[in-house]
Amino acid sequence: MHLSRFPRLHFAHLPTPLEPLERLSAHLGGPRLWIKRDDCTGLAGGGNKTRKLEFLLADARAQGADTVITQGATQSNHARQTAAIAARLGMACHLLLEDRTASEDPDYNYNGNVLLNELFGARLSLHPGGTDMNAAMAAEAQRLQAQGARPYVIPGGGSNAVGALGYANAALELLAQANDRGLLVRELVHATGSAGTQAGLVAGLVATHSGIPVLGIGVRAPDAVQHRNVLALANETTALMGLGPIATAQDVQVNCSYVGEGYGIPTQGTLEAIALLAELEGILLDPVYTGKGMAGLIDQVRQGRYHPDDNVVFLHTGGSQALFGYRAAFGFASYR
Ligand SMILES: *Cc1c(COP(=O)(O)O)cnc(C)c1O
Repeated sequence: MHLSRFPRLHFAHLPTPLEPLERLSAHLGGPRLWIKRDDCTGLAGGGNKTRKLEFLLADARAQGADTVITQGATQSNHARQTAAIAARLGMACHLLLEDRTASEDPDYNYNGNVLLNELFGARLSLHPGGTDMNAAMAAEAQRLQAQGARPYVIPGGGSNAVGALGYANAALELLAQANDRGLLVRELVHATGSAGTQAGLVAGLVATHSGIPVLGIGVRAPDAVQHRNVLALANETTALMGLGPIATAQDVQVNCSYVGEGYGIPTQGTLEAIALLAELEGILLDPVYTGKGMAGLIDQVRQGRYHPDDNVVFLHTGGSQALFGYRAAFGFASYR
């Protein structure tokens, strides 16, 4: 697995730290929980899309692009990280945002990631929930091309095989950290959405015969769909790396029973997980992904999935910037 064969730009702060969650582990009575801090990748507040964008933007530049187009939900972290790197590279950035929650809360619609997108100088357009966003991006690309621009379309979440290389690389990084400190990893757990993160991790962990299982906690699709998406993309990624489709159905574990009402709508468990990590560890999760992912992990711990001596790593994929779009969900009184 020699990732230097692929064009890559270097703007993420790597390696991200791997830290023990001592107070949370004690609170839950084991296992030993660890957190891999991909919320600290550096670009624009950090997050998992940054690793993918290192490979995607290198590809865009190799193709002579001067404009990037991508899509996501209104509070998309992927959109924010894309807007930031486009600014840094002097490229135009068009973000197509899908109104997946129908929220009328001004914080949701204008604060958090949306505010940051504006600061990075991106062009934003809002599309009704259920829009065919791939078709909308293709139409936008055509429109910009007709004006003489050279657009590069990045799929939602940066989730194609090129983007997933970023997480194949993250798998190598985590393995090196675990090996350096003699840490036997029982499982790696994280929130899975557009599937590129889990697909890249599975690709890297299978290609290296690490024996480390990955559990994706779903935030949108039902189990069968998420499993299919992750497996297909993991195999596209290993194929791109020249290894053929080596991931099997057993290599992909997903649990989509923590979605609740839907994408972007926090559950009670989500809010509990955010509060626990904030109060016990001083760590900010987010209401769309990592809050749900951590709620799933906490529930699995409580159901006895792990032995108290196991080491379980939670991948923090970022997203706390979206908290400012969700002030109302927490119902805090301002002062007392
Ligand atoms: C996009 C995102 C995820 C999910 O990653 P995918 O590669 O889309 O599955 C998880 N957490 C955060 C904070 C994200 O922004």
